[in-house]
Amino acid sequence: MEERLQTPSEEPRKRNFLEEIIENDLASGKVKSIMTRFPPEPNGYLHLGHAKSICLNFGLAQKYGGKTNLRYDDTNPVKEDVEYVDSIKEDIKWLGFQWDKELYASDYFDQLYAWAEQLIERGLAYVDDQTQEEIRAGRGTVDKPGVNSPWRDRSVEENLRLFREMRDGKYADGEKVLRAKIDMAHPNMMFRDPLLYRIKHASHHRTGDKWCIYPMYDYTHGQCDSIEHITHSICTLEFDVHRPLYDWFIQTLDIFPSHQYEFARLNLTYTLMSKRKLLELVQKGYVSGWDDPRMPTLCGVRRRGYTPEALRMFCDKIGVSKRDQLMDIQLLEWCVRQDLNARANRYMVVRDPVKVTITNWEPGRVEYFDCPLNPADPEGAKRRVPFSGELLIERADFMEDAPKKFFRLKPGGEVRLKYTYIIKCDEVVKDAEGNVVELRCSYDPSTHPQSGEWRSVKGTIHWVSVAHARELELRLYDRLFTLADMSQVPEDRDYKEFLNPDSLVVTSGYAEPALLEDNSGIAVQFERDGYFVKDKDSTDELPVFNKTTSLKDSYKPE
Ligand code: ATP
Ligand code: MG
Repeated sequence: MEERLQTPSEEPRKRNFLEEIIENDLASGKVKSIMTRFPPEPNGYLHLGHAKSICLNFGLAQKYGGKTNLRYDDTNPVKEDVEYVDSIKEDIKWLGFQWDKELYASDYFDQLYAWAEQLIERGLAYVDDQTQEEIRAGRGTVDKPGVNSPWRDRSVEENLRLFREMRDGKYADGEKVLRAKIDMAHPNMMFRDPLLYRIKHASHHRTGDKWCIYPMYDYTHGQCDSIEHITHSICTLEFDVHRPLYDWFIQTLDIFPSHQYEFARLNLTYTLMSKRKLLELVQKGYVSGWDDPRMPTLCGVRRRGYTPEALRMFCDKIGVSKRDQLMDIQLLEWCVRQDLNARANRYMVVRDPVKVTITNWEPGRVEYFDCPLNPADPEGAKRRVPFSGELLIERADFMEDAPKKFFRLKPGGEVRLKYTYIIKCDEVVKDAEGNVVELRCSYDPSTHPQSGEWRSVKGTIHWVSVAHARELELRLYDRLFTLADMSQVPEDRDYKEFLNPDSLVVTSGYAEPALLEDNSGIAVQFERDGYFVKDKDSTDELPVFNKTTSLKDSYKPE
């Protein structure tokens, strides 16, 4: 895993190989303007891997003055659904991109069908009656040539008749397929009479029951690219063996010469990005849904409080490579922190409270402090924070037998309550079991931040006023899986065995009242703690906050 793990640099990056290709194509006049496409199959929600593909396809077009189509690769009616179609659009827009045209491979079913008849007429396609197993067995192996199907030499007329009957619903699923007639001994297995159409009596989310034959991916993708005049069709590395076939269809049909380029798919530590497995986690209830904040889906990370800015920063930093990539999820978290640190509003929230009573505070008195929402902008917007004689502080900010270097509250010691006064701990009150239940302190009025007599102490801690505190539900998240490189799950084990049982901890907290009025629309910072974002499960009685990420991490990009 160490070897695969890559840590990119903080330096501005060099041109990537796709940018080089595009710049050369534009300079040589090979293409006048560039056109890309993002081709999701609407069979699940988009994940972080798709974000990389989106940033690339849309980003390249933007950079070079071109356009990007959103094209749904909807050739498999059984697994596809409008719910996914809609979520994909929402996610792309959220990431900050706008497509030129919204298109569907199914828009081209008539054209693809016409091309199939053309191939039949030219003796380049035939209807095969073999079963799936027979076809597979007949393909041979890398070292062994395949054998011709007994149905390979049907006449053009018979093939046309049978193909039309397939289209008209005369045959059951699997009874017949249409194959290209290329070369059963071809060194590239893709050329051993690839399947063009299969029979599937299933309603399609767009074409309804118009079709009962559906084109295969290889027969569809390149031609769709060509119809849309896509100049640079970018896909993941595993499609490199498909490229010669992609070119074969385009050349054979003599249509617009789209070209395919491959880049390495994104993998992240402690998570996985296969829609099939993510769907299983949802369906079997291992997570609360596609938008569970632990999921690597775009709706999941959005609910977690990750920003589109952070995701774009991340995609830019990881660059594009021709080699398999396993990226450290900490880099993504680092990007989130970078973005939120600059923009997030600050509030004080105490999670594990102990009560502080200010003994020399006039009973019932409340003083308000105007505190900056973001310390980077001290003159900017403020929030009002009420201070009173009964406060809550973090239990961990008090220590009875404190070591020398402990600069927070200790018996007889002083600490500043953030934005306000210095207090001194005069007395520790305990219950029968010896637990600390109250700290009786006195405040020094001369230490008001505007008093001009600024006196400094080493420690500053956050606090909330008891009478004004709002109770929150806090949902704290950890890695979804315990294994860093989920591609290394042993053969004899199930990936679900590596689910982290502690990936969700639900707890509570007490917030200063202004938090509930925040309308920034992004995650906020709980001071000295981390970034949190309000969740849709919130009610008026109980606001719920998801932890986006902690404030600090020892991680630093190299
Ligand atoms: P999955 O294996 O999760 O189902 P997929 O590749 O089948 O993914 P598609 O909906 O077909 O999903 O993908 C749309 C586009 O996103 C494709 O161009 C695909 O190559 C790209 N893509 C998918 N996963 C990744 C990834 N992990 N990294 C980069 N690009 C990806
Ligand atoms: Mg796919």
